[in-house]
This record gives sequence, structure tokens and C-alpha cells, in this order.
Amino acid sequence: MDNCIFCKIISGEIPAKKVYEDDLVIAIEDISPVAPVHLLVIPRQHIVNSLDMRQEHEGLIGRVFTVAARLAREKGVAEEGFRIVNNNNAGAGQSVFHIHFHLLGGRSLQWPPG
Ligand code: 5GP
Ligand code: ZN
Repeated sequence: MDNCIFCKIISGEIPAKKVYEDDLVIAIEDISPVAPVHLLVIPRQHIVNSLDMRQEHEGLIGRVFTVAARLAREKGVAEEGFRIVNNNNAGAGQSVFHIHFHLLGGRSLQWPPG
């Protein structure tokens, strides 16, 4: 998708600190971290957000969670607790309109979120 920053990261046009990749997803370090561990798990396919999800994407979302769990273990935050966050539309804080899942950990996380 033209003018999509995450599509450009996936294609290699824009650099990013990649920590994982497979046939369905990539994971990168967030450029502006809000926690000691702040990764983004991003499907390769340009899907806008959860409202754009179709039945054919169900396997892809399973992959997002297995990858996030693996990365949480690798980063050492699995036992203490971590969060997987997906913001949908601007009012919820979505700023990049290519679906992605924040993996947050390494500090205490408040509930409810702001
Ligand atoms: P959202 O606000 O849409 O839920 O999350 C978008 C995230 O992407 C933000 O946490 C922001 O810091 C991150 N981000 C935006 N542009 C870039 C970039 O060019 N590289 C990386 N690594 N992260 C980015
Ligand atoms: Zn995209």
C-alpha cells in the first residue's frame, strides 16, 4: 500500500530494528518506546485494523499471538506480565493504519489503560 509506513518497513524501503520475521508477520522495536520492552508485531498483509478483519485472516491473528508470546519469553517479561495491545481508530490511539500489535512489558502496567 502506497504511503503506508509499515508496508515500507516490511518491504525494506524504511529501516527498522527487526527482531523477528516469518512468512506472515514481522516484529520490530517501536521507534518511540513507552515501556522497557516495546515491540510491534505487524502482519505483512496491509490490513487497516480489526474492523478490516475477515475469516481468511483468522490464522494470521493466531500467528501474531504465538509470536508475541515467544518474544515475551525471549525478552524476559513473560513471567512478570506483559500486554498485547491493538488500537483501533484514532479515538483509541491508532496512528498507523496498518494493523499491528504492541507488546509491552518491563514495567508495571496500570489498569484500566488511559
Ligand atoms: P498506534 O499508535 O497506531 O497504535 O501505534 C503505532 C506505533 O508505531 C507507535 O507506537 C509509534 O511509535 C510506532 N511507529 C511509528 N512510526 C514508526 C517507524 O517508522 N518505525 C518504528 N519502528 N515504529 C514506528
Ligand atoms: Zn501497510
